[in-house]
Amino acid sequence: MESVYDKYEAVIGLEVHTQLVTKSKAYCSDINEFGSRPNTNIGPVSLGLPGTLPKANTNTINFAIRLGLAIGARITTKMHYDRKNYFYPDLPKGYQITQDRTPICTGGYVSIKTDDGSPKDVAITRIHMEEDAGKSIHDQDIYDTLVDLNRAGVPLLEIVSEPEIKSSKEAYNYLQEVRKLVRYLDICDGNLEEGSMRCDANISVMLKGSTEFGERCEVKNMNSMRNVQRAIDHEIKRQIDIIESGGSISMQTRSFDAVSGTTSLMRSKEEAHDYRYFPEPDLQPLEISQEYISSIEKKMPPLPKSLFEKYTTQFGLSEYDALNLTESKDIALFFEGISELTKNYKAAANWVMGSIKSYLNQKAIDITEFPIAPKKIVEIIELVDNGKIVNSTAEQRLFPEMIRNPEKSAEELSEANGWLIQTDSSELTELINSILNENPNELERLKSGEKKLIGFFMGQIMKASRGSANPKEVTKIISELIEQ
Ligand code: ADP
Ligand code: MG
Repeated sequence: MESVYDKYEAVIGLEVHTQLVTKSKAYCSDINEFGSRPNTNIGPVSLGLPGTLPKANTNTINFAIRLGLAIGARITTKMHYDRKNYFYPDLPKGYQITQDRTPICTGGYVSIKTDDGSPKDVAITRIHMEEDAGKSIHDQDIYDTLVDLNRAGVPLLEIVSEPEIKSSKEAYNYLQEVRKLVRYLDICDGNLEEGSMRCDANISVMLKGSTEFGERCEVKNMNSMRNVQRAIDHEIKRQIDIIESGGSISMQTRSFDAVSGTTSLMRSKEEAHDYRYFPEPDLQPLEISQEYISSIEKKMPPLPKSLFEKYTTQFGLSEYDALNLTESKDIALFFEGISELTKNYKAAANWVMGSIKSYLNQKAIDITEFPIAPKKIVEIIELVDNGKIVNSTAEQRLFPEMIRNPEKSAEELSEANGWLIQTDSSELTELINSILNENPNELERLKSGEKKLIGFFMGQIMKASRGSANPKEVTKIISELIEQ
């Protein structure tokens, strides 16, 4: 049965704030560091003391251009900063330096997957530079709100999407792509839980097929991707319920509560701030030359999209493998390190996605802490490809041994442990013969046609030879011996 909810479609636009990993703040030399003791990174500019002057951090501009180029945006060449005025205890100056009319990037898109897995480009309206406010802490003192100004003046990029997102799952996928992108670009660590990436969701609903958007509500305070998804689902339902019961939606800012999974009113349109934007008189307008943009373009790190392209077309890997390998930048860089030294890309992918990832998961470490260098993984791949070691021996014995001895070569370790495939077949024949004779019953059954006993003997022989026998050779010798 069709439910009332199926009559409607949702329209969602996201505003994502990313805290930049610059060394110093946006408009002064105070350290930009998460987790310092409260109110220690606060010079006169961060405190907004009278007579102080801001100075723009070049890296904020560079990072913004890097992100703009990565999403195919237009980079604004003439721009200025604006003041956004409001009063709040964690905003010492009484205004935020931001960009209103002349955002540093406009246009471009972020590619995501829709609910059914098909590709979709979400258009980006703008990216602008601004500064963070300090932090009000309400839960540490029973009487007072405490203020930590370490965050005041930390550079932010705000990424505003067009209202083109259709579901909470799409919003989730969009955030995941944005996070992957800023991490690849090394401009933000993308941690929603710590607040270095934050998202406000604008949500409205309208009858399916309608061309006129409904009135929207903006939801804040979701501190994980999962909570963004929950907040959107709740908000869509809330709005439809109101409309279905004869009410109408008015523009509001609402706050998400993670415990109840619901949103509640923060302020309505009537209480909206009048920010009295005007050009920031203390900072010069900016002019960015094409040469400057090109110089940043030349130093762009690899991006997930281009690596995915390369892995599926040039390397002949499946989309599944390519997606898996590009999920995290550090994994992709490790795989890059291997694939520069071998053409057996499928084996390289299998090593990274198999043994290496399970080792990382098991130890709960990052690939950057993985002890074996990419070129050593290539050594293992080559030993296998050259028929010098059996793949299962490489995975089960050599790999763990290399982790214990990361400075030794794969061949050295295999040699020392007797894992290299014996090329001397008389020795192997002797070993096989003795194992066949030690198991007369199984040998009889094999002789009378029970082919599956080859597997039994293979196991015994592998064990006895400590994995150094070549399975093809073993099969050949066994059939020769039983035919005699
Ligand atoms: P504001 O400055 O009030 O936040 P913007 O015009 O910058 O308003 O829009 C903010 C966000 O709201 C954008 O991401 C945009 O896509 C989204 N948005 C605009 N209209 C709607 C709507 N009717 N439904 C859902 N989202 C919307
Ligand atoms: Mg807004």
